[in-house]
Amino acid sequence: MAVVGARGRMGQRLVALAAEFGFEVAQTVDADGPGLEACRDALPDVIVDFSVAAQAERTLAFARDWAVPCVLGTTGLPIEAESALEAAGRVVAVVRAANFSVGVTALAHLVEMAARQLGAGWDIEIIESHHRLKVDAPSGTALALGDAAARGRGWRLEEVVAHGRQGFTGVRRDETIGMHAVRGGTVVGEHAVTFLGAGEAVTLEHRALDRDIFARGALRAAQWVVGGASGGPARGVYDMRHVLGFV
Ligand code: NAD
Repeated sequence: MAVVGARGRMGQRLVALAAEFGFEVAQTVDADGPGLEACRDALPDVIVDFSVAAQAERTLAFARDWAVPCVLGTTGLPIEAESALEAAGRVVAVVRAANFSVGVTALAHLVEMAARQLGAGWDIEIIESHHRLKVDAPSGTALALGDAAARGRGWRLEEVVAHGRQGFTGVRRDETIGMHAVRGGTVVGEHAVTFLGAGEAVTLEHRALDRDIFARGALRAAQWVVGGASGGPARGVYDMRHVLGFV
């Protein structure tokens, strides 16, 4: 495999754990040094990218041009990278997830169910916390959980999301999903989705205690996308729900 963002917090764990999942790291890419072009003569079976949004677009272009499956963990992608993702998915299989942990994939599933079954009369608020070095907010995971909740209600997240609240906000509108980001310390990642009804509240929560859950999930996705002897999916954009067989 080739690891992009290899010197980062996630990249280092991917390199350290790769062998456990049967992979040899043939190429590491970071901000300086050779790019993915250096492995054109001996293409990897899969590229795993946990770097920065600006690089993710280049990784996806390489995956498309050389038909190398890709596991993309980088978050905060600009709109151009979203089109690069679709373009790559037309040629080769790409697994993209805002959060590669098994627990968060299950949480999103439960949030969608709760949103659907609790239904109208239950307000939805999402609170996420991350370490002080995280550069984007809200987290990709919080947005994915917001999407799951919105799907459960038959809404589109972008039409109902309320980021933070300040000043004279007026009373809460029914068709709203509140989204709040806490930053500080060394928190690996915490996400809580609270459903507030009349006189009661239900919270579904996930706490990441160790960054390795993301690296292990991404390596599991890499195994899935490569597919062993029978080969992986030919093309398309997938997420962790496909890897874990939830859909
Ligand atoms: P980090 O800052 O520790 O690592 C990023 C690495 O990318 C650094 O080593 C940096 O030098 C490198 N980099 C910068 N520009 C580059 C370029 N042009 N080409 C190649 N490498 C470049 O960050 P991190 O905590 O490892 O997270 C990386 C990304 O993964 C972030 O977008 C983060 O939100 C995301 N993330 C996703 C998940 C998930 O499960 N999907 C989990 C954790 C982090």
